[in-house]
Amino acid sequence: MNSADVIIIGGGIVGSSIAYHLTEAGCRDVLVIERETHQGKGSTGKSMGGVRAQFATPINIRMSLYSIAFFGTFDEVMGHPSGYRPQGYLFVATTPAHMDYLRENYRHQVEAGLQAVRLLDPQEVSRIAPEIRHDDILGGSFCATDGFVDPHSVMTGFMQKAIERGVRLMRDTDVTGITSDARGVSGVETSHGFISGRTVVNAAGAWAGKVAQLAGVDLPVEPLRRMLVPTEPFDKVSHQSPMVVDMKTGFHYRPEGRGLLLAWNDPEETPGFKLDFDRAFIEKILTRGVDRLPCLEEAEVNPSRAWAGLYEMTPDHHPVLGPAPELPGFFLANGFSGHGVMHSPATGRIVADLILHGRCDLMDTRLLGLDRFASGRLLHETAVL
Ligand SMILES: Cc1cc2nc3c(=O)[nH]c(=O)nc-3n(C[C@H](O)[C@H](O)[C@H](O)COP(=O)(O)OP(=O)(O)OC[C@H]3O[C@@H](n4cnc5c(N)ncnc54)[C@H](O)[C@@H]3O)c2cc1C
Repeated sequence: MNSADVIIIGGGIVGSSIAYHLTEAGCRDVLVIERETHQGKGSTGKSMGGVRAQFATPINIRMSLYSIAFFGTFDEVMGHPSGYRPQGYLFVATTPAHMDYLRENYRHQVEAGLQAVRLLDPQEVSRIAPEIRHDDILGGSFCATDGFVDPHSVMTGFMQKAIERGVRLMRDTDVTGITSDARGVSGVETSHGFISGRTVVNAAGAWAGKVAQLAGVDLPVEPLRRMLVPTEPFDKVSHQSPMVVDMKTGFHYRPEGRGLLLAWNDPEETPGFKLDFDRAFIEKILTRGVDRLPCLEEAEVNPSRAWAGLYEMTPDHHPVLGPAPELPGFFLANGFSGHGVMHSPATGRIVADLILHGRCDLMDTRLLGLDRFASGRLLHETAVL
């Protein structure tokens, strides 16, 4: 374990996908280093598992198109279930501005090649989500290939296949330093000793900023707490329901097990490594939830089953993918701003291609480079949940 062609820091869904995609391209001397005793203890295991192509920017839409097609054949290719359920995402609009926004996004989505997306009138919204309050709804948009995956299972599938092909996974090992010489990166210091390698990938999720600092690289990725609330078994909403997003408040929900999983982005949340669940959040989310989904009044919620995790936010809500300009051999796969599960297949492919070939034909990856922050070439994604 004292050297590898490629060293990946972080064994979440992103590190696992990169490891898999490297082996797919023939690179097998890969070492994944994870500081926890088990994979998935970072954001991957806390995720809501939503996958959607209904984004506002062509880059995010393209990342989703590749990834959702990938999830469609995942089980067969990996020999392991992804849990992909194409039950759709329904965005519910209640103002003319919402409808204009959905129309504009729809145009970009269709232009990028998305076929399953549709704009809806209020009657169609009622048919898809009969449980919600409809008196103020002006319309919506729905994409049938959007849906959910099981993030832990996807991560496991990627890693199992990578390990079958020779990738090594070191758990319970903290990366504490990144070394370099005149040629660039030369290896990593860990809690179990030095490991040499000329290519090191930062796949450290919400902790990516700290890992980048070990290499002297300034990476604008901030942790931001997100909380999810499951209900107890509840049959007033169809288990075939899509993810329903109320654009009025940002409240959204999807079926999970025999109940629902509820989410809402609290605008008062501030950046930081906060992993405790705040019980006061329950009342806040249920107030928004009952407003759109009145039957939620009858659902039971057990606060001890709710949880918190971290989004990894960048200033423009797009990931940072590719080489760090100032340090040859140091690659970044960070800052997914809450979309790292759904974009894990495209990320693995892009980062593996950039490491092995210096280019990727999936999209213009220079747009996602770290230098966009210094040069002011920011992208703008507004469809962040
Ligand atoms: C509540 C919540 C809901 C979400 N919902 C969705 C959703 O619906 N759809 C979606 O696509 N995304 C969602 N996300 C975001 C998604 O979970 C993340 O974008 C994704 O899991 C990021 O994967 P990752 O592998 O980069 O990070 P992680 O899963 O956090 O993995 C990073 C790993 O790096 C390890 N690590 C860190 N530092 C070191 C070090 N120094 N040495 C060794 N190892 C280290 C950590 O232990 C961790 O295991 C959600 C996130 C949260 C919190």
